Amino acid sequence: MPGLLSIAALVALALVLRLPGRVALAMTGGLWLAIALLLGTAPESGLARSIGASLTGWLVGGGFAVLVLTYRMVLRRLRALAPEADAGMPPADDGQMSDAEIDRYARHLVLREIGGPGQMRLRGARVLVVGAGGLGAPVCLYLAAAGVGRITLADDDTVSLSNLQRQVIFRSSQCGEMKTDAAAANMAELNPHIEVTPLHRRITGADTDLVAEHDLVIDGTDSFAARDEINRACVAAGVPLLAGAIAQWEGQVTLYDPAQSGPCMACLFPEAPAPGLAPACAEAGVVGALPGVIGSIMALEAIKHLTGAGEGLRGRMLIFDGLYGETRMIATPAREDCPVCRGHRHA
Ligand SMILES: [Zn+2]
Repeated sequence: MPGLLSIAALVALALVLRLPGRVALAMTGGLWLAIALLLGTAPESGLARSIGASLTGWLVGGGFAVLVLTYRMVLRRLRALAPEADAGMPPADDGQMSDAEIDRYARHLVLREIGGPGQMRLRGARVLVVGAGGLGAPVCLYLAAAGVGRITLADDDTVSLSNLQRQVIFRSSQCGEMKTDAAAANMAELNPHIEVTPLHRRITGADTDLVAEHDLVIDGTDSFAARDEINRACVAAGVPLLAGAIAQWEGQVTLYDPAQSGPCMACLFPEAPAPGLAPACAEAGVVGALPGVIGSIMALEAIKHLTGAGEGLRGRMLIFDGLYGETRMIATPAREDCPVCRGHRHA
């Protein structure tokens, strides 16, 4: 069909000359309109016959092209739209995504539950990750990759050879470096659009102000004492705490959120376990892929929490048994007389 060929030739010419999209669109539209007019007014003329198309066919083809272009334009507008701020979720970043970001986060943008608004929420989110160990590794990698805008990473340890069996965020060449610095460097390399702040120390119950600067705290530490301190700071600051734990072949994940009527850690574990009952990974051992599974679930739950997608783990705990490939869910109600979160809880 010479008619279609002439349109194709014009588009090719526009591409070669690198004409702006609008100019190319106007030229193509003009040619299409001229041919439509010719087919409509003088269908029997020699020129109209040489085009080799009926007016109906020409109009249907043009209509289809307009539909495709409109769909693309609407999609682009929707993606750039900044979302409304909802209660309990971080305020959305009010900037616009660059083309590189749209490309990078394309698989999120097409998800109904995340889309443009959810991605902007991730970009505006501030997350404190405590512990750059086995759980912290996948949490940090996936949150960085997902485009969580500001991540603070707290740990006072250095990378050692025995970490590398499961802490996949580190390279062998980074042994001896501060874990926070090594992790932050690798996260920045994975995604330059985010900001990572390394904190070379542990988090204590007195860190209320620091915790309050964040939308979510993620605990991947491995001792009851450390967890207890982080829980107290989160309860006092009113910031939700996503906690994971692993031992040998089994792990668990839950969300502590007394401010939204959930329990705090002390509601479930009021006292430290007896010595020897809950040994750290160093004594009891842990299979290398287990923190990958549990840490990835934590990253997933964090993304859900920050974007408002699906059902979170507030009031329930997911338990994973790697040795038998089983998962189960248990209810985790708040304890009315909990000394830590009583008075901080909202019904
Ligand atoms: Zn409590």
